[in-house]
Amino acid sequence: MNKIFFTEEHELFRQSLRAFLNKEVRPNIEQWEADEEIPRSIYKRFGEMGFMGVTYPEKYGGMGLDTFFSVVYTEEMIKMNSSGFNTSIGAHAGLALAHINGEGSEDQKQNYLTPGLAGKRIGCLAITEPSGGSDVASISTKASRDGDHFIINGSKTFISNGVLSDYIVAAVRTGGPGAKGLSMVIIDRETPGVSATKLKKMGWHASDTGEIAFDNVRIPDSQLLGEENKGFFYIMQHFASERLGMALIAVSQAQLALDLAIDYMAEREVFGRTIDKFQVLRHRIAQLSSEVTSARAFVYLLYKQYSEGDYIIKEAAMAKLVTTQLSDKVCYECMRLFGGYGYMESYPMARLLRDSQLGTIGGGTSEVLCEIISKMIIDTKEYKAVI
Ligand SMILES: Cc1cc2nc3c(=O)[nH]c(=O)nc-3n(C[C@H](O)[C@H](O)[C@H](O)COP(=O)(O)OP(=O)(O)OC[C@H]3O[C@@H](n4cnc5c(N)ncnc54)[C@H](O)[C@@H]3O)c2cc1C
Repeated sequence: MNKIFFTEEHELFRQSLRAFLNKEVRPNIEQWEADEEIPRSIYKRFGEMGFMGVTYPEKYGGMGLDTFFSVVYTEEMIKMNSSGFNTSIGAHAGLALAHINGEGSEDQKQNYLTPGLAGKRIGCLAITEPSGGSDVASISTKASRDGDHFIINGSKTFISNGVLSDYIVAAVRTGGPGAKGLSMVIIDRETPGVSATKLKKMGWHASDTGEIAFDNVRIPDSQLLGEENKGFFYIMQHFASERLGMALIAVSQAQLALDLAIDYMAEREVFGRTIDKFQVLRHRIAQLSSEVTSARAFVYLLYKQYSEGDYIIKEAAMAKLVTTQLSDKVCYECMRLFGGYGYMESYPMARLLRDSQLGTIGGGTSEVLCEIISKMIIDTKEYKAVI
């Protein structure tokens, strides 16, 4: 399968990224998990190495590479076994910068994208609100016009990089009720009236997750991203690549769980033989590996379609739905193959299992994905690209 999707250049890139991660990231993961954040210096190192902007335009400091380089990137990042670390980089490079690259003006790209790809100015994407994340069209954070400024009031929650980022790409209500009244704006952290508090959570420990409040925050209307009242459609458009990315993360996590379990099974002796000789366990690995390999083939295929410009709203939702549930199952089964050690923090499976479980929640819960898929396949609803 690899030869269909990856070239020799992709493999060379994989080797160099892997060497970098093993040297500069892996030895620090335990500390960053304990700190519940990653240091500024690692963003800068990603920027210096070019790894922050694998597919972004070279004009702004990206590498301008094809989509399958970003697939390689994600697969190697997940091998660090810290979704918190992956999210700290990803919420900036994959979410905030995606909106700025997609809808930003030239000035906004110079101010945020270029320093962002250099790892010097870090962003977050703030859509979810305390009153609910699934129903994006009901967002209530209000941006009222005051001449050539907006005054923003409201709050956001569960925001990755929500406390430590330098700016917030936020969804706000500039118009009437419903999907057609939303816009995207960039709010600099130091603007008076912006405050944030850090949240404690079950997994993703190396990621800073925060609640952000906006109290009469005044920003110039030049901070509007794209067109006024088109925010909902921008969010939906970016959701396709975000969900596809989460599907790739899920199959990569599941593969990591299997790889770790297979290594462990070759070493662990019980009843005078290693546990990889027990047929019931061998069959379990065979079954799970078959499911993960099949799911990965679907994800690679969607990346191919996406790279050729197909608008894959339904398929990305399907991929995220299936793969995140599969990852939870595989991580759980593989954790059990470690026996009591699977439950210990000094072994990798406990973190892998709890980190996996955000997959079915973030970026659209499984129920919300089923809503989208059922509307498209039962009611034949269609979504059209706006960008
Ligand atoms: C660690 C973490 C990091 C996150 N990072 C970000 C971030 O960077 N930026 C950001 O904007 N958000 C972020 N989120 C928020 C995430 O996207 C939301 O939690 C998610 O969209 C669900 O929203 P909610 O939590 O408000 O749940 P709700 O919308 O309150 O849903 C509650 C339950 O109801 C179900 N439900 C909702 N609607 C329906 C329906 N129509 N039919 C059936 N069931 C339904 C849901 O599936 C869920 O089980 C993050 C969340 C976490 C936990």
